[in-house]
Amino acid sequence: MEQTEQVMFVGADADLMARSLDIDWIENETLVTPAMRQLYEDQRTNEANITAGDTVGAVAVDRDGNFASATSTGGTPFKPAGRVGDSPFFGAGGYADNNIGASSTTGHGEQIMRCLLAKFSCDRMAAGRTAQEAADDTAAHFESRFPNSMSGVIIIDAKGQYGLAHTAPKMTCAWLDKDGTIISRVKP
Ligand code: ASP
Repeated sequence: MEQTEQVMFVGADADLMARSLDIDWIENETLVTPAMRQLYEDQRTNEANITAGDTVGAVAVDRDGNFASATSTGGTPFKPAGRVGDSPFFGAGGYADNNIGASSTTGHGEQIMRCLLAKFSCDRMAAGRTAQEAADDTAAHFESRFPNSMSGVIIIDAKGQYGLAHTAPKMTCAWLDKDGTIISRVKP
């Protein structure tokens, strides 16, 4: 973001670019933990065990009113090589606009990309909805487009208020209160 004018690099050439920019390098294999390897084996041998759920999203605003959204994911289990999900795409897995707010989404990427879910939620705020109202609108919209599917969204609005909603059965979330206390919940 700071050292090239381009917005996105992918694949082998992204690796080359990262190396040329001296970005810290770790081998992918070091990201595979024994617990995740075990989960993979359990899921591989029994489809009933398949769960998603390693995606982490964050939204924030600083004291100057700069909004940021970040979404990190391992993707969906057993995806084919070459599949790029929604998470890195602006408007789908995340979106931020200093005039509106920020949003990060999770769920079935192929569906999220088709309805630009993060942009949708920011558009709701631009139309005057609070963060929580925009989150509720977003979940309702996703449910109407993709009934019984799974999604979740976290949002922060221009007043620094947060909102969250999900069509997945539950979503784990955390936020900082005004006094700096971290509060975390599993939202049913
Ligand atoms: N959206 C991610 C993907 O489809 C998965 C997730 O959010 O859990 O790659």
